[in-house]
Amino acid sequence: MPKNIIVSNRLPVQAINANDSWSFTPTSGGLATGMKSVHQDGDSLWVGWPGVSSDVLDEKSKTQISKDLEKYQYRPVFLDENELDNFYFGFSNKCLWPLFHYFIEYHYFDIEQWNHYIQVNQKFANAVLEVIEDGDIVWVHDYQLLLCPQMIKDTNPEVTIGFFLHIPFPSFEIFRIFPERERLLLGLLGSDLIGFHTYDYERHFLSSVKRILNFEVNYNIILHHGREIVVNTFPMGIDFKKFESAALENLRNNFSETSELKKQINAHKSENEGKLILSIDRLDYTKGVVNRLLAFERFLDTYPEYHDRIRLVMLAVPSRSKVSQYKQLKRQTDEVVGRINGKFASVNWTPVWYYYRSMEFENLIDLYVSSDVAMITPLRDGMNLVAKEYLATRVDNDGVLILSELAGSSKELPQALLVNPFDIGQLVQSIKTALEMSVKEQKERNIISRKRIQRYDIEKWSSNFMKALSDSANKESASEVKVVNAQVSNMIAEAYNSANKRLLLLDYDGTLVGFHENPNKAIPSESLLNLLTDLSNQKNTDLVIISGRPHEFLEQHFAQLNLTLVAEHGLFLKKPNAEWEEKKGVSNEWKEHLLPVLDTFTDNTPGTFIEHKKNSLVWHYRKTDPELGTARSVELKTVLTSLLPNELTLLDGNKVLELVPANINKGVVALDLYNLKPYDFILAAGDDVTDENMFTNLPSDTFKVKIGKKKTAAEFYTRNYTNFLSLLSKLL
Ligand code: UDP
Repeated sequence: MPKNIIVSNRLPVQAINANDSWSFTPTSGGLATGMKSVHQDGDSLWVGWPGVSSDVLDEKSKTQISKDLEKYQYRPVFLDENELDNFYFGFSNKCLWPLFHYFIEYHYFDIEQWNHYIQVNQKFANAVLEVIEDGDIVWVHDYQLLLCPQMIKDTNPEVTIGFFLHIPFPSFEIFRIFPERERLLLGLLGSDLIGFHTYDYERHFLSSVKRILNFEVNYNIILHHGREIVVNTFPMGIDFKKFESAALENLRNNFSETSELKKQINAHKSENEGKLILSIDRLDYTKGVVNRLLAFERFLDTYPEYHDRIRLVMLAVPSRSKVSQYKQLKRQTDEVVGRINGKFASVNWTPVWYYYRSMEFENLIDLYVSSDVAMITPLRDGMNLVAKEYLATRVDNDGVLILSELAGSSKELPQALLVNPFDIGQLVQSIKTALEMSVKEQKERNIISRKRIQRYDIEKWSSNFMKALSDSANKESASEVKVVNAQVSNMIAEAYNSANKRLLLLDYDGTLVGFHENPNKAIPSESLLNLLTDLSNQKNTDLVIISGRPHEFLEQHFAQLNLTLVAEHGLFLKKPNAEWEEKKGVSNEWKEHLLPVLDTFTDNTPGTFIEHKKNSLVWHYRKTDPELGTARSVELKTVLTSLLPNELTLLDGNKVLELVPANINKGVVALDLYNLKPYDFILAAGDDVTDENMFTNLPSDTFKVKIGKKKTAAEFYTRNYTNFLSLLSKLL
């Protein structure tokens, strides 16, 4: 039975050694809860690091841990101290984390750490490859494992892989400064589905794919090596029921069962009708802790009437304390808290209650249910679950959430008081607004937000992702176009070998060679020329290159071979050892009317250019900014279509628009060639829309092969042109 394989940097347990034996405590957290329904009995496996350095483990302990974890369907990836330092603390947290959170001044690229990142990603991929079976679905998580999808796909191309990024994806202008940007994107593109928390992250990612890799993107689908990679938004939710019922339980408790923390809070609240403002985060520079404190300080300076009556409860959970920026942040936070308390405290009142530790779940709930205001103002945050948890515990719908517009959760919670966390003045005013907001307004806002997070909870998040992932797996298998695998290529080779008269009609660009920014550089290699020579010299075989290229280009590269050449989509034709023939009766008068239109678009779109062919005009936009190019090509198409005379056709090719005479197309010439002899084997291959005319005009027993998996009338496809060349060499 096919299984789900979850891959994350850490397993949802922490291995602990006591008295020479190993035990495992579950680590709480959204991911473990979210994966519960995916990680079901019998049909799932979770691959990850068990939370202990392998430097302290001998072989016996490793075997023991692996065996014990098997019971929970966990498979450990052991990492030693050096790997943890370089891959986790180093590359993941000193390079990727700051870059993806827009802290470029903290971003540090070290080649040795990068090499470790590659090796450890390979280690995770190998752990998956060791256990993977036909039909399994893999879900890889987060920024520590960006290269893993392609590493799995390289060895096992048929497996379906999903990837979810739990942190922001930065804008192209930030991402572009990363030295290994292509490698990182290609690593991710081993996935079939890539998920982000918000549409903005999705947009930034697609923009980087277009600009850095120059790949074709249609809406949210990336075309890469003949595969379709779907990119979508799946905002991560929380376990709403868990937080809501814990809050109800907390509020039901009578005083004697109340925790020490709750008693202190109650005492504060009963004095002077005191109000609490809550701040909870890992102590990370992305969380905006210092800005929040500065805003609180300025609030107390500006509104002395609130002294004694409000308190900021700040829970800062220790995090990555080995990394220097985190040490510095700790010092700075201690200092500002000390300054505020020193400046404003009285005998009965300390304005900031500062906890530098993590808290038990029950205490967290104490804080959530008791706080009148939650101030969650990260400078950048992928999602921020604390904001959602606070609302989930507000069972009476009261309380005010001040939320940074730079947290992913702000997209789902527009009813919160949204703030720019860099604008201290605005933060100060938001505290005042929150403290003075009527309960009626609080409820009106929270009812809408709570409904949203209740409906779209963590289970919904993971089930939506899994559904999209299995849809992409099913789409692949249900698709009518079949991939040329070993079985199909054997079948084509057999038909070829047993035929008496064979015709091969092959497009050039994208079919026999790859694309190049400068078309004049996409020239045939020595090995391609040898392959074509060998094929064309086979008995009873007619080989045709059928291209949109000018006849001069084909003449220069192929005239010496025993081939038929078709240039400019059929305007020119040259039989082996004969002269070029030009199709008669084609007028060129239209050029002087339409060339000025193309000139205007070329002037306005840097990087585009016009190619002049004898009877056609081609507007190339491969070298321009991809987004601008696509937008301008749509405009140009609209303008040209309104001006197009009957005798012309507009071909929408691969990053080109081409105006050609209407009676000239590859379908017409392919059919003419087919009718010349009684062929009993025909193979037609092409990658472009202009090749579709061949596929539709040729008889149904033709082997029609599309290069790249795109919409087509062909029956078969290969993922790329090199796979097609392998098919051709099988015919020899
Ligand atoms: N949290 C916790 N113990 C604490 C403080 C916070 O378990 O003492 C939890 C909190 O409930 C939330 C998570 O830590 O689920 C923080 O998630 P968030 O998305 O807000 O930030 P991250 O730490 O992932 O950047």
